[in-house]
Amino acid sequence: MESFKVTLETFPISYGMKKSGNIIDISLSIHKSMITYPGYSHPKIKHKWWSTTADSEITLSSHTGTHVTSPRHLYMGTRGVDSYPLKQLVGPCRVVNFSRVRKVITMDDLRSVRIKQGERILAKTSNSKRGFRRFYGDYVTIDGDAADFLAKKKISLFGIDALSVAKNDEADLRAYTSLLKKNIVIVEGLNLEGVSAGKYTLVVLPLSFRSLDGAPARAVLMKKSSS
Ligand SMILES: [Zn+2]
Repeated sequence: MESFKVTLETFPISYGMKKSGNIIDISLSIHKSMITYPGYSHPKIKHKWWSTTADSEITLSSHTGTHVTSPRHLYMGTRGVDSYPLKQLVGPCRVVNFSRVRKVITMDDLRSVRIKQGERILAKTSNSKRGFRRFYGDYVTIDGDAADFLAKKKISLFGIDALSVAKNDEADLRAYTSLLKKNIVIVEGLNLEGVSAGKYTLVVLPLSFRSLDGAPARAVLMKKSSS
């Protein structure tokens, strides 16, 4: 029986490919030693080789890496991650640079960038520059007043380069509650390193787990070509 010679050259390995044409991957790569939110499970990936094929058994937190968080994260019996309309997850978006913010994005920071109704806003902070090799407890996110402001503005999606929109051990959970009560999509764990501020088309598609509090997603930005 003739066998097809398979080498590493046949299928070159590429980790964390960031750009392909005008498409930029803003998702974190999922692997067993990636960072997770404190207390949440690390991915467990068990490879199995059958007689002719391989498959892998995967155990993940629903809030692993780049992911969408749904109202069920805080409110039992409410909508799950599979219930967001696709048109809310895909469409025009704006990457806003908050890299100078030291601790937390405030209402004043948001006022200065003129948020409009219906916008998809991705907040790029110093988290992306610091990278995601280890978890930093002092990650930058938004405060409760800023979340209230976004909710009042009726944006459709808010994404950030932190594993949580709320501070670690924060008693004020408005960063979640204000957004989720208005059905604003929350995307956490984005990697916006090397992404310039500006307008893009966003595609963020959480895996379609039924009625779940969150799910990992692949997120990409597409820049309009200048032609
Ligand atoms: Zn989450």
